[in-house]
Amino acid sequence: MTEFKGPQELPFVPDDLSVPQFILDSHHLSQPVVKTDIPRFIDDETGRRIGIEEIRARTFGLANGMNSRWDIREDDVVCIFSPNHVDYPVAMWAILRLGATVTGANPAYTAEELVHQLQLTKAKILLIHPACLPVALQAARIAKLSPSYMALIEPANMEISLPTVPDLIADGLSRPPSFNERRLRPGEAKTKIAFLILSSGTTGKPKGVRLSHYAVIANTVQSAVHMGLSPNYASDENNRFRAGDVMIGLPPFYHIFGLIPVLHFSVFAGMSLVVIPKFNFVDMLKSIERYRINHLLVVPPQVVLLCKHPAVKNFDLKCIRTILSGAAPLASETIIALAQIFPHTAIGQGYGMTEATGISFARIDKHVDTSGSTGRLVPGVVARVVKSDGSLAGCGEAGHLIISSPSLASGYLNNEEATKETFVDGWLHTGDEVIINEEAEVFVIDRIKELIKVKGFQVAPAELEGLLLDHPDVADVCVVGIPDDYSGELPLAFVVPSPSAAERIKSRPEESDKVKAELVKHVADAKVHYKHLKGGVEFIDVIPKNPSGKLLRRFLRERAKALRAKG
Ligand code: AMP
Repeated sequence: MTEFKGPQELPFVPDDLSVPQFILDSHHLSQPVVKTDIPRFIDDETGRRIGIEEIRARTFGLANGMNSRWDIREDDVVCIFSPNHVDYPVAMWAILRLGATVTGANPAYTAEELVHQLQLTKAKILLIHPACLPVALQAARIAKLSPSYMALIEPANMEISLPTVPDLIADGLSRPPSFNERRLRPGEAKTKIAFLILSSGTTGKPKGVRLSHYAVIANTVQSAVHMGLSPNYASDENNRFRAGDVMIGLPPFYHIFGLIPVLHFSVFAGMSLVVIPKFNFVDMLKSIERYRINHLLVVPPQVVLLCKHPAVKNFDLKCIRTILSGAAPLASETIIALAQIFPHTAIGQGYGMTEATGISFARIDKHVDTSGSTGRLVPGVVARVVKSDGSLAGCGEAGHLIISSPSLASGYLNNEEATKETFVDGWLHTGDEVIINEEAEVFVIDRIKELIKVKGFQVAPAELEGLLLDHPDVADVCVVGIPDDYSGELPLAFVVPSPSAAERIKSRPEESDKVKAELVKHVADAKVHYKHLKGGVEFIDVIPKNPSGKLLRRFLRERAKALRAKG
């Protein structure tokens, strides 16, 4: 049986600790090199620096304050609706210390999207950034979540009076503990759910991926060891990532990329994380220069800007030691261009998936690697490659990647069917086509699942198809991704017009553009920016389907590419 493994062994991963106990309290923090008095979070906007003791105190204070106010019960779900913020991880860890579960929502969501997440996860409490408050209030009304179960991440002048996280922390620190911190039995960290993250997986609409405490801890350790921390978790002077280094905290914490390899890895390794709420390229360059950031974990469009944006030459960026791109494929031409601009920087790529709680394989090279490989499997991951006839591929043969790992999610929330399809006998079906070579390097060739990735964000075709089918001008629809140099892909809808729309288009050809524009607007009004139909709308007579009614997406993807190539 052909199975592939990376070169390193997975060190011990505790199965009786919660995420905050492991990240904030556990023995690896006694490593002398991690004990240095460095700030762990730096607020990009204000320059405020927060050390590990202050993070611990704030986390305890918030847990105590929240519990006194809301009497949080085991497995209650708390939703954080905020851009990256220095108190975002404090809130996460406070919620986890109480034995509750965290679900982070994209702060750019529309009310409809937030309602979906609140209802799916049955969130009881909502922590909101003031900038997100109007959408949050609208969504909360629909989801029947009372304002008395809301708090603001930071103070702001608002008509509505809500407690703030700093208030709750101050309150929690001023009173005796109102809760006994949850201690897990041996093995319990594997079943106790820490995070619910939205992902559409290989098919269908966004679902709640159940990530256990153990899975989060395991992938933090897997990433750390793979990236150069020694197996006893120590970080020493020879490592690429060292305690005291400065890492960019730009990828959103609600997404698996921001959550594990950025947030948990940086705290675990004793680095300082510059917490950046919103992406603006020139501001990012300023922050790199100001805080002497060493490690950039970014998505491919940001790498493209590093290669092409004229402002890059105006900044002193010699502090950058590593640029690691993740969440979507990075073209070899981009790697070459990047290496020319940053000749002394190690360049890397990481492949991750929400359902595997983070990184499964990654590479970081001093030399320029244009082989197209995304690196070797991280310790603890075992991979099989399944050919289209169901047999296992050997070295150099293409097929569907399936993986086992201690970091696998525990399935989808309240969705047995999708769980059974995706997690089969302990193997995660990734929906990606790969080749693995003799050196156990993985080459991602294609995405065979429905998922579209725009700037690293997930777009589930089924979600947009459901919305478009609600429109009276649409009889049938299939949404596919078309390649785009900057965003990676853009969503395009093939639409069969309804009889009335077809009639209008036939009698007045100018109606065609009007209907297309109306459908683009229909999506733009309901969904966050990266789900918009920026790839356009194409009319088609019939959506091709196989005899059992399954959409033939690959066929339409090819057709979309051909249409765009013609212009
Ligand atoms: P998500 O769960 O949002 O992280 O999306 C996971 C999917 O993103 C994977 O199954 C891949 O299809 C894609 N992906 C993530 N990282 C990479 C990468 N480095 N190269 C190619 N595809 C990637």
